[in-house]
Amino acid sequence: MQTINRKQTRQIKLGQILIGGGAPVSIQSMLSVPTRDVQAALSQILELEEAGCQIVRFAVTGEEDLRAIKTLKQSARVSLVADIHFDYKLALGAIEAGVDGLRINPGNIGSREKVEAVVKAASQREIPIRIGVNGGSLPKHLLQKYGVSPQAMVEAALEHVQILESLNFEAIKISVKASSLPLTLESYRALSDRVSYPLHLGITEAGTLLSGSVKSAMALGILLAEGIGDTIRVSLTADPVREVHVARQILQNLELRKGLNIVSCPTCGRTRVNLFRLAEEVEKALQSHAELPLTIAVMGCAVNGPGEAREADFGIAGGEGEGLIFARGEIIKKVPEDQLVHELLKLIEEYAQSL
Ligand code: SF4
Repeated sequence: MQTINRKQTRQIKLGQILIGGGAPVSIQSMLSVPTRDVQAALSQILELEEAGCQIVRFAVTGEEDLRAIKTLKQSARVSLVADIHFDYKLALGAIEAGVDGLRINPGNIGSREKVEAVVKAASQREIPIRIGVNGGSLPKHLLQKYGVSPQAMVEAALEHVQILESLNFEAIKISVKASSLPLTLESYRALSDRVSYPLHLGITEAGTLLSGSVKSAMALGILLAEGIGDTIRVSLTADPVREVHVARQILQNLELRKGLNIVSCPTCGRTRVNLFRLAEEVEKALQSHAELPLTIAVMGCAVNGPGEAREADFGIAGGEGEGLIFARGEIIKKVPEDQLVHELLKLIEEYAQSL
């Protein structure tokens, strides 16, 4: 079987997380609550951490957000990135408050002195900067020259890169996000040919839970399979915790990350249990075990279920008012339908404690 041959990029350090240079692809998300609302921000950061998020970005739009950063930093285990548009004072304030990274486009900061001030502060604290090009806000001169195209996206990124390089700053990562799948793919491929900085993958304005997940899985999946990408963010018009779940699924399906894999059958005329409900119950109950390297099967019938899912470490198969618990194709016991999930979870807990 061919494994993914990841492109060797330079490595940067964002808090405790290494990005690029062969480090595992990391998962990012962004707070959907105002940063200044410290309680809400903290509880969302904790939820994201629990889901497996490693890097959390938040908008910094004013003094109140800046004041919140110190408290967030004290409690968060994930790396924190301040997202700033234009205002160099906010960038300096965020660095001072202890963020692990900045997302700011140097070309939008303003005068050379302001850019230098931000870059100097970031250098001193060893804080990387993400250059984030967005297909919806390309600079006019590039739009006139190339239109909305991969060339315009890449040139826009390179213009920002040159500013940082001219100040000897190389702790850079780059994103070139568009909401069009083909434009995103082409832009990242072209950028990857031109730079060795680590790339942050994402689709912008991806959509709601279903459509956004499909689009993101396609874009990120294709690029990662080609070896492109060092950190990912799935953007959804949904709870950011869902973004992390989708990101994990993408990485696990590409076998770039180990973790819990829940498989379930589509049901058919042989199904005598409410398998949709059972599968959802199992998925929900196992959210806090996302790191376990197990495959769990939820199958609709006892006749074919255990056999079809013989690759699974543990599984359940529904019957008429009762069901089977099985492990690697072998039936362990028969239990009433309402005990199925409970018995399965007991087995998984036992396994988790034996590790
Ligand atoms: S496991 Fe059983 S219920 Fe599920 S699809 Fe296969 S035959 Fe149908």
